[in-house]
Amino acid sequence: MIQQLLDTNTTTLLLAGTVATAALAYILYHATSKTKTKKHNIHNSSSSLYCNHDLKQHTHIFKQQVLQIQNTNNVYVAIGYSLANCIMIEGDTGIIIIDTTESLSSALVVLDEFRKITNKPVAGIIYTHFHHDHVGGSEVFIKESIDGKTCPIWAQETTEERISNFNSIIGPLAYVRATKMYGTKLDKPSFENCGIGPFLAGVDDTQGLENSPTHTYNTPTHTINIAGIELQLIHCPGETDDQTVVYMPRHNILFAADNYYESFPNLYTIRGAPNRDVVQWANSIDIMINTSPDVMVPSHTLPVYGAKEIQIRLQNYRDAIQYVHDQTVRLMLKNYHPDEIASMIQLPSNLRDCEYLKEFYGTVGWSAKAIFDGYMGWYSGDECDLMKLTPTEYAHRLIDLAGDSQTVLDKAQRAFDDQDYQWALELSSAILRAQEKSTRHVIKAAKELKTQCCLQLGQQQISANSRNWYLTSALLNEGKVSEIKVPKKHLKNFILTKPLGMIFSTMCVRFNPSKSLAGVTKSLSFILKDREMEREAADGWTLTIRNCVLYSKNEASLDSDIVIETTEKALRLLFAQPSSIAKSVLSSDFSVKKGDVRTFLQFIRNFDLDL
Ligand SMILES: [Zn+2]
Repeated sequence: MIQQLLDTNTTTLLLAGTVATAALAYILYHATSKTKTKKHNIHNSSSSLYCNHDLKQHTHIFKQQVLQIQNTNNVYVAIGYSLANCIMIEGDTGIIIIDTTESLSSALVVLDEFRKITNKPVAGIIYTHFHHDHVGGSEVFIKESIDGKTCPIWAQETTEERISNFNSIIGPLAYVRATKMYGTKLDKPSFENCGIGPFLAGVDDTQGLENSPTHTYNTPTHTINIAGIELQLIHCPGETDDQTVVYMPRHNILFAADNYYESFPNLYTIRGAPNRDVVQWANSIDIMINTSPDVMVPSHTLPVYGAKEIQIRLQNYRDAIQYVHDQTVRLMLKNYHPDEIASMIQLPSNLRDCEYLKEFYGTVGWSAKAIFDGYMGWYSGDECDLMKLTPTEYAHRLIDLAGDSQTVLDKAQRAFDDQDYQWALELSSAILRAQEKSTRHVIKAAKELKTQCCLQLGQQQISANSRNWYLTSALLNEGKVSEIKVPKKHLKNFILTKPLGMIFSTMCVRFNPSKSLAGVTKSLSFILKDREMEREAADGWTLTIRNCVLYSKNEASLDSDIVIETTEKALRLLFAQPSSIAKSVLSSDFSVKKGDVRTFLQFIRNFDLDL
């Protein structure tokens, strides 16, 4: 099975690599042929795109290795195998794993390395938080437990729910944005790193199949003892609200989770996530400082040694967070626009010079906007933004103002030549948004220019996130990477494994009612004959379309317009295989007790099941 997993992964990577290499070659051809005549633009070498010097240097810290923590004979961290580190503590009778990487294939490679050190069974796993790069590879380590099936998994009380709900209703969009941010469509010469890790390992093999915690705690601290090792789990809300840092008294080690890593913290993530409470994050770092560790092992980037060094770093880290928060609010109180605030705030020079506060991952500007949004919501307070024109409408008006789209294109080209890539990007994008105002020639030129802008902007970035995003956008804009879509198997895994209530919640946001449904109420009940898999089900489910929303209730009703008797498995498969719904419903697993098949299919056709 291990070899099979590795082979599958390797094949996928190779295929992706081949496609991306061809795409890059094309881009490089255009990039170099275009920039030859321009004096200021970044020239690309024949083999790779330029990368910000500091970001390139940063790649070295992700050298793949298993480090034995100094002055211990039983604590190890595997770094460079996946986005997140995987930590092993060897106890008397077994090993403890802190964070499991994001993929089965990465976890298998890490396990192989750990097995060169000890053959003791896995006695316990700790999830520092619910993010996929920490929980995705758990299956591999559970199989190394004494019985090969079960193993205590510790986490903060809310971690389980967060794993279950992670990206559930926004899954397809989250996938697209994460793909762009982590640069998984880029090929090797253009990809540099992910800011907090070398790369995002293939997560497709584990999506929706994470193992839930078996043991949780809900107090500020909780002491556990696994395989003779005492560990304190400390709830430290930071990057996520469920963040657990782990303190090991025997060696005075603090496992810092994602509340510290060598980069300005991701107070806002451009892949998209709910607002992060940055004041709480700074407060949590104070709690971490109070443990006075001699060694700090974060779940991303390298361990830090020395009580004094750790204290300085953590203090600077929390002060940097507080600085961005406080200065954002100060400027908010002066009625500055969030975009202006983002451009006005810089860390004080002493903090800016710290290697571990460089903006390899999070950035100060994005953080300021997120802090504004956390307090005030989307509205900037500027009346121009209250009923803002859509980007398309704005594009039309911009072209009208300029006279015609060729003039806008000329201005865009001039901005590009002057290295004003942002303005060139905005102008070329405007032409593409209002294509009916342009000739094919202008559209083609605007598209090429937009690609060049994305390439130039991408190469300038110190943040791996924005570098990856721009370079992926260049590929997408050129059509050299096809539209990014969540793999169908993700949705299928989700539907086959998650509680039905959660699945129907995601159906609500896939409901696309036709205008004819205004004022119409229709209901569909599923009576479930076998409910082995479904803990929450009563006798079934009723889905009601009412006021153009879908309302679900964990109860079947014979009063519904359509009543279908089926099994839970068949019901799951029905939604998991949208292309064969008609066939499924005609099978022996379904019996229509009330209404008819045609009405049922009409009901189902109101959903965007292909999302
Ligand atoms: Zn992480």
